[in-house]
Amino acid sequence: MESPLPPQEGSSEDQERLAALKVFQSAGKGSWASVPDAEWNDWKWQLKNRVTRIEQLERLLPSMTREERAGVLLAGESKLALAITPSFFNLIDASDDFCPIRRQVIPRVEETNTAPWETLDPVGEDDHSPVPGLVHRYPDRVLFLVTDRCAAYCRYCTRSRLVSNASGYDFHPEFDRQIAYIAEHPEIRDVLLSGGDPLLFNDEKLEYLLGRLRTIPHIEFLRIGSRVPIFLPQRITPELCAMLRQFHPLFVSVHTNHPRELTTEVREALGRLADAGIPLGNQSVLLRHVNDEPVVMKALVQKLLLCRVRPYYIYQCDLIAGSAHLRSTVSRGLEIMDSLRGHTTGYAVPQYVIDAPGGGGKIPVNPGYILRKSATKVILRNFEGKVFEYPEAPELAAPVPMRPLCDSSAALGKD
Ligand code: SF4
Repeated sequence: MESPLPPQEGSSEDQERLAALKVFQSAGKGSWASVPDAEWNDWKWQLKNRVTRIEQLERLLPSMTREERAGVLLAGESKLALAITPSFFNLIDASDDFCPIRRQVIPRVEETNTAPWETLDPVGEDDHSPVPGLVHRYPDRVLFLVTDRCAAYCRYCTRSRLVSNASGYDFHPEFDRQIAYIAEHPEIRDVLLSGGDPLLFNDEKLEYLLGRLRTIPHIEFLRIGSRVPIFLPQRITPELCAMLRQFHPLFVSVHTNHPRELTTEVREALGRLADAGIPLGNQSVLLRHVNDEPVVMKALVQKLLLCRVRPYYIYQCDLIAGSAHLRSTVSRGLEIMDSLRGHTTGYAVPQYVIDAPGGGGKIPVNPGYILRKSATKVILRNFEGKVFEYPEAPELAAPVPMRPLCDSSAALGKD
């Protein structure tokens, strides 16, 4: 008898797109073909040669649109600066105005439109800062902002009030004060280093900071939030990985939005971090015309697992001033979650969250799998839409009396 074929999903067109999106490709040298390999692979060279000015863009991206040109002219004046590493720049499809890479890093004039519900600090971080550069919103963990610099700047950045200092925020972290606060609060067991991007620090500076945090007895767990492995994979050197592994348990949360960002170079960089024993998670932001399609998100999460990265969160885009053109709908986010849960490996399914405006923290948002609930039963639907009934356990009228602890050796039948 023939074994039944596994169920097939999606149109053949979707299947072909999924397969194509999951292919790992090198970013290549593109317009920098004449640069020697030693320089191209040097993270300091990549940083020094970032695309930051309109004259560079005119040469490298002649198809720049009017909206982009106007946006670029404003960037850095009062808006988030423009900066793109050469290796990330090479992922842009110059023939596509809606290229998902392009939309993330090339400014657009729409950034000047601010809706009434948009603000510079949409998740209320400044209101939860007991000392500058430290956000203490949840009971047992803090966000430790160490810098306002990034390898490249994302146009939808929640901290665009702060990063690149374009809006005059004048961020100057005071590590002594930040660390003293953490040391004085024994309830803090988890520190997330972020910014800006902590992996832009040189190894010595990062080692100094992590070392100081590790001397605090109640700190159990360190995390680094970074987009450097994606924007600047050259930075993930064996030396950096060897230094980081001294500080376990240390997790790294990367930030990837589109499967094309996962190049062969990025996969190798992430592999070096994973080989250093660092558990890796990914945070994505749901972005219009970037990743707000089920097939794109499915390719991203499956490709992340191939890079040994666990998809962790999909964020609904925060209400950051000037981000409406990039914000997708919550309905679309729920549709994407419905397309993932049950349809792919559970490890590949992230949690979709809305960071509550004003500082309420992350709130999980899930498609409705519970259709009805009563005292006697729960009516559920599964990923295929089939309905099931689960009998509710009866409420106990009185607590069950505790039995005396048994002698475990007797229970195991041993003398
Ligand atoms: S890398 Fe992170 S902090 Fe930097 S601009 Fe992008 S989202 Fe903002």
